[in-house]
Amino acid sequence: MNLILMGAPGAGKGTQSEKISEKWGIPAISTGEILRAAIKEGTALGREAKTYIDDGKLVPDETVIGIVKEYLASSVCQNGFILDGFPRSIPQAEALDTLGVKIDAVLSIEVADETIVERMSGRRVCACGASYHLLFNPSKVEGICDKCGAKTTVRADDAPETVTKRLATYHEQTEPLKAYYAKKGLLLEVKGQDEITETTRLVFDALGSISL
Ligand code: ADP
Ligand code: ADP
Ligand code: ZN
Repeated sequence: MNLILMGAPGAGKGTQSEKISEKWGIPAISTGEILRAAIKEGTALGREAKTYIDDGKLVPDETVIGIVKEYLASSVCQNGFILDGFPRSIPQAEALDTLGVKIDAVLSIEVADETIVERMSGRRVCACGASYHLLFNPSKVEGICDKCGAKTTVRADDAPETVTKRLATYHEQTEPLKAYYAKKGLLLEVKGQDEITETTRLVFDALGSISL
């Protein structure tokens, strides 16, 4: 299964991609995570990406397209993949089409903006990709990742003023992709407003209905 996961910042893409990844045994590729790892390592890519991410803007299309191209060509993606957070603009979607990669479905997790702001304030993340919430999905020991034992952190771009900018960027540049993929008959919309387990149920239901 080749899947695209869409949704506003904080809609639950990372959380649900973990579940899909476990159930279907396919890797999740999160462009946001790849960029944050580059920032941590202090690479040229990281230095470029940081200015955009800190400002709640999209990293330039050519940069992220280059990253995704490399992943899709590698052996890890040969039995399917989940693209978490890519494409995020029409030019990115067109570039993906040009690569000739078959996409089976585009799943969009729908959450109201008001809910997003509340969710982001409690988000804690781990460098291994795990995502927690102080109230809605706490780690067993506060501040420590269940999966790898590392310390969890607050993302710099989860500050309320940056979240507001990211939501505006989403509505302006990413949301038009829903019409783009609906036209191709690939769009599946799932309500992401309820608790995590209920959202996972809706996600699995939606994915169970697609023909591969
Ligand atoms: P995204 O990858 O879309 O930015 P995350 O999966 O990281 O979003 O989720 C954002 C935050 O909200 C995290 O703290 C996560 O634990 C929490 N969260 C995710 N889904 C839900 C949900 N259905 N209900 C409550 N909190 C959620
Ligand atoms: P979230 O889903 O919570 O917004 P991500 O981890 O997916 O967070 O992305 C964090 C940031 O990384 C985005 O706000 C953006 O600046 C950058 N980014 C991630 N994916 C892309 C992409 N496909 N195109 C451009 N910028 C991206
Ligand atoms: Zn971890």
